[in-house]
Amino acid sequence: MEKRAEKRRMVLVPVPAQGHITPMMQLGQALYSKGFSITVALGESNLVSPSQHFPDFQFVIIPESLPVSQFEKLGSLDFFLNLNKANEANFKECIAQLVLQQGNDIACIIYDEYMYFCEAVATEFNLPSVRSTANSATSHVGGCILNKVNAEKFLIDMKDQEFRDKVVENLHPLRYKHLENLGFGPLESFLEIFKEIFSKRTSSALIINTASCLESVSLSWLQQELGIPVYPLGPLHITASAPSSLLEEDRSCMEWLNKQKPRSVIYISIGSIAHMETKEVLEMAWGLYDSNQAFLWVIRPGSIPGSESLLEDVSKIVSEKGYIVKWAPQVEVLAHPSVGGFWSHCGWNSTLESVAEGVPMICRPFTGEQKLNTLYIENVWSVGIQLEGEVQRGDVERAVKRLLVDDEGACMRERALVLKEKVIASVGSGGSSYNALDELVKSLETCVK
Ligand code: UDP
Repeated sequence: MEKRAEKRRMVLVPVPAQGHITPMMQLGQALYSKGFSITVALGESNLVSPSQHFPDFQFVIIPESLPVSQFEKLGSLDFFLNLNKANEANFKECIAQLVLQQGNDIACIIYDEYMYFCEAVATEFNLPSVRSTANSATSHVGGCILNKVNAEKFLIDMKDQEFRDKVVENLHPLRYKHLENLGFGPLESFLEIFKEIFSKRTSSALIINTASCLESVSLSWLQQELGIPVYPLGPLHITASAPSSLLEEDRSCMEWLNKQKPRSVIYISIGSIAHMETKEVLEMAWGLYDSNQAFLWVIRPGSIPGSESLLEDVSKIVSEKGYIVKWAPQVEVLAHPSVGGFWSHCGWNSTLESVAEGVPMICRPFTGEQKLNTLYIENVWSVGIQLEGEVQRGDVERAVKRLLVDDEGACMRERALVLKEKVIASVGSGGSSYNALDELVKSLETCVK
């Protein structure tokens, strides 16, 4: 077999959580396909079966990094502050070892923006660094704005409804109220973390898993504001699929989907982190039952805290119309012709995966970042509806019917299919994301600090 002409090595550093590891592995796959060698640095507790899925990647373990299980215990601010503190010395050691092994081979460190300790390490070893975000461009814009505000004044302004409703200049339809809780936890703590993450940056470019056709306003803003190249090269999963599930996928749901009618099923998933209250789950189960529509529901272990027996109750309610799994092959599920809608927490990966399949959505966001994605799904792309307030079975029933049965849903589906075509075109030859990846590759090929 012909030997692959290897380019220099990229060291990738994802946040150790599903929604961050997935796009980073996809980026690794995309860069590998362009000839780069790939090293992935992960915390001990977060290895993604490397030998099984990525035999050509090198994996290094950052010892004693903070496991993602600590996220909820510590809260987001302390988690990321501690993670960065805990990792810096160990990552330095990792890179020192790599430099020893690979000599001049390492071209660049590409790190998730929340792993900002990488910048200091890159500087110490005289390596260039590029940051990447696992969130949307709009969410990144929000972070930049929060970094610039005077925290004290902003917290006072945010108590004023008129200010909250104001559109952020040049960023329609983004309003100040949308910046609230832009992440997990209260605004106060996020103002602090954004200052920490956004203020001392030395990385030479920003990679975003998005497409110009999805977020042109936010991308233009970032391109003007940041003063470094911004590469919107997504959705990466379309061209660089990279199996990186931390949980085992239950593929039996694909057989179940095969037996359903075209576009008749609502797929329900709240991603890898969010939790639901018992009451909410029961209302959802009854609402789904009353809607008389088929559904495939991912109920992740531990996602309904303290309610192991609840699953039995839910299964009884939904037995005839629904199918429940602990974890699904989501991208394949969304591509299945039986799926007519996606009830989602609107994490950025889920949003992209749905958009790329032309599946309209019922949005039930938990955090501010997911609320921003919802703003785009509902008000900019018009391919979904938001279910607000306390979940009640009547609202669930109506939302599911609006999406799967009513003309309104059919119109949304048409728009979703038009958007799908645009998104697919952007990653195809000559498309904006395709070109952005090429430009990134060119700049990485000439990476010299
Ligand atoms: N996912 C999956 N199977 C499931 C549920 C989710 O493979 O049953 C994947 C989904 O395809 C997505 C990721 O988990 O790539 C969730 O990322 P997202 O950004 O949507 O949300 P987060 O988990 O970060 O809140």
